Amino acid sequence: MFKKKIITRFAPSPTGMLHIGGLRTALYSYLLAKQNKGKFILRIEDTDRSRFVEGAVENITDTLEKLDIKPDGEIYYQSEHLENYKKYADKLVKDGNAYHCFCSSERLAEIREKQVANKQPTKYDGHCRNMKEEEIKRMHQLNKPYVIRLKMPTSEDISFNDAIRGHVSINSANLDEQVIMKSDGFPTYHLAVVVDDYEMGVNYVVRGEEWLPSTPKHILIYRYLGWKLPTYAHMPLLLNTDRSKLSKRQGDVAASDYLNKGYMPEAIINFISLLGWNPGDDREMFTMDELLKEFSLDKMNKAGAIFDIDKLNWFGLQYIQNMNADEFYNISKEYLEKNTEVDISKYTKEVSKAAQTRVSYLAELPEVFSHVFALLDYDAELLVFKKSNKEDTIKGMKLALKVIEDISEDTYNENMLQLKLQEAIKAEGLGNGDVFWPIRMALSGKEKSESPIELLLELGKDESIDRIKKALKKL
Ligand code: GLU
Repeated sequence: MFKKKIITRFAPSPTGMLHIGGLRTALYSYLLAKQNKGKFILRIEDTDRSRFVEGAVENITDTLEKLDIKPDGEIYYQSEHLENYKKYADKLVKDGNAYHCFCSSERLAEIREKQVANKQPTKYDGHCRNMKEEEIKRMHQLNKPYVIRLKMPTSEDISFNDAIRGHVSINSANLDEQVIMKSDGFPTYHLAVVVDDYEMGVNYVVRGEEWLPSTPKHILIYRYLGWKLPTYAHMPLLLNTDRSKLSKRQGDVAASDYLNKGYMPEAIINFISLLGWNPGDDREMFTMDELLKEFSLDKMNKAGAIFDIDKLNWFGLQYIQNMNADEFYNISKEYLEKNTEVDISKYTKEVSKAAQTRVSYLAELPEVFSHVFALLDYDAELLVFKKSNKEDTIKGMKLALKVIEDISEDTYNENMLQLKLQEAIKAEGLGNGDVFWPIRMALSGKEKSESPIELLLELGKDESIDRIKKALKKL
């Protein structure tokens, strides 16, 4: 059966780093296109030069690449196609659907002020809308700067079917006569987005809910130019756990911050995939391949999606836990070398193994395993278990020391340590708390840590002996 190829795009403005909301748009657009063997385009909407931020494009492309969201074809930059937008703006004017507006910024500020004072909606008052042909000519002869504005029907319900929200209707009376071409020859977003979506054959426009009020303006441009509308899918807002709008003020919203912290890319994708979509049952773990099979717009919620960092951390841990041990060791070691000052010689495979069940992202490693990288200072009293006493503790530690020293390097492993320590404890008539508690404390310097055996393995024989000796001196 013939099915139309789905073409989607991600169209960020390079005004800053790619944030979580943008990443979700990119992911959903990508999934929608790719699951149908369609096309996913990356288009940089860089026509607002005043808001251009150096490095933003690099941040966007780099983040998408790391997260395995692969655009088809070359990246498209709107600023390289100014002539094309001008062509359509002129056509809109010629057909009577747009007009030249010569109003000065002073005049615009004045009407705005009046409207605000009268508690009216602030919008252009239509001053230049019906300017006579000769008057327009005269203004051009005088070289007066002008913008091009889109004509709005006085009062018309502009409706469309949104793939997520269903029937949407907005009355044009509330809409401004949008500037579509600025005096510097750059189009505004509204014209450029429509021209490009049309020319690129984009038939699904997936974007955030904040664009909903602009959609009627876009629909008018499609209508004026005689083009077929794409399907719109406006995604729900992203909210903080207190249901306020996810904003820059509350923690990190740049997707690259999470990559930089060493969350596994797959965990980020999995987490983002569920911000507004769900599979219809209680499954939560999804790889990109699984998402490509399962994702669909009709399983999206209209209600705001909550960005819950605890949930991201949960996914982070799951993906780290499920990784192959060697792979995790290599990735985490490289991360520590590149991003931290820790003594990397202390980062053994045993530490890496322990980390796999304890960290959600790699930047947590130096803190969670601080005791591995350096012996921490602690109170001597902590060495004595609450059901033990100083004397038995010293006995227990000396015993452990002897046992450990007697085990040869090549049999220094979990089973041997466990066996020999237990044997010795029994033979001496000591309690577990007289031995295991103080060694754990001596090795970690922390009241909560991995088990004593894990620590013995993480630190290795020599370092462990050294630390137990230091602890004995404290008592
Ligand atoms: N350039 C717009 C943005 O930065 C794109 C909005 C749209 O997808 O139409 O979000």
